[in-house]
Amino acid sequence: MKYVVVIGDGMADYPLEELNGKTPLQTAHIPNMDSIAANGVNGLLKTIPDGMEPGSDVANLSIMGYNPRKYYTGRGPLEAASIGAELEDDDIAFRCNFIFKDKGLLADFNADHISTVEASELIEALNQAFYKYGKFYLGTSYRNLFVCKNKEMASLESTPPHDVVGEPIKNHLIKPEEDTKSLLINRIMDESQDILKDHPINLKRVQEGKKPANMIWLWGQGPKPNMKPFKSEYGIKGATITGVDLIKGLGVYLGLTNIHVPGATGYYDTDYCGKAKYALKSLEDNDLVFIHVEAPDEAAHAGDLDEKIKAIERIDKRILEKLLDNLPNYDDYSISILPDHPTPITIKTHALDPVPYAMCSTKGSGDDVNLYDEESAKSGSQGLLDGHKFIKNLLDYSG
Ligand SMILES: [Zn+2]
Repeated sequence: MKYVVVIGDGMADYPLEELNGKTPLQTAHIPNMDSIAANGVNGLLKTIPDGMEPGSDVANLSIMGYNPRKYYTGRGPLEAASIGAELEDDDIAFRCNFIFKDKGLLADFNADHISTVEASELIEALNQAFYKYGKFYLGTSYRNLFVCKNKEMASLESTPPHDVVGEPIKNHLIKPEEDTKSLLINRIMDESQDILKDHPINLKRVQEGKKPANMIWLWGQGPKPNMKPFKSEYGIKGATITGVDLIKGLGVYLGLTNIHVPGATGYYDTDYCGKAKYALKSLEDNDLVFIHVEAPDEAAHAGDLDEKIKAIERIDKRILEKLLDNLPNYDDYSISILPDHPTPITIKTHALDPVPYAMCSTKGSGDDVNLYDEESAKSGSQGLLDGHKFIKNLLDYSG
């Protein structure tokens, strides 16, 4: 049996007035998703446990079959894995953003999408200045990493910078502020300004009319998660295909093979056909492949309804159609479609609602649902399932 799980990031949505009360999934032309729903079973998946934030990392960890409540330790350690920074047992990894501070406000959480080449020089300067406290690692663009030794820092309260754009920096420093560990991290953030403000990279950026990366922002910290590899947990060998570091990081900790697809960008322009092609090839050596597509989420964050519908239709046409045409080369196969969480256009951010899922298999039965969308899935035979039970459900159903 070969298994393919296609995850359209943020595909689920709410009914929209401009779509006459329908959701983007109900509006898009998605014959292949509908055929999976019609030939297989359907249900709702609660990918975000109560009390947790609806992040893609938490949601995808659920889908991969692990309870985030038990295994999620933060965004930093996942990104560390994806850039190849190995964490020791007493390490704490912080996500390190380059930000633009203006008049005391957090004016831009990504310093105008500073390039990775520019970031690498700034990272070097930070390492020279702060080597006593830990090590900075280059990631991609404004998304970098800081690793230090103090496991107790896991409990500090840090703030995602994209949540507080335009707000005073002093209101969102690491808390509790009087804690010595907070004092240290807040001091590093504060002193980073002295290192960065007159750095030649920033002087040049200002000259070119771009925002300087004049401060770092440390957040999302945590230790290395301790998860049993996917193979020993579920008895099958898995792979991931994604353009997103967080998801790659999950794959690293779970012992999944990250398949590199040359045109996978994590954006609208990702190579959908390439993802399908590489997924089919990966099944020669693997039992299961997760294909993650970020584009619908990006479109929803931008509030771009047309682009969101386009992204959903591209997943259907360019990925699912190719998969459904070629999977019969394997005698027995199963294919599933689901989002990780909703990213409703109206709120432009992730929501907590359970997501619709559909799965069909050459060995499985069907239910009465014929369409794939948020509403139809409610009458599916699988009911409402906790996210981390998805893989077990898939294996039980597919045989
Ligand atoms: Zn997501």
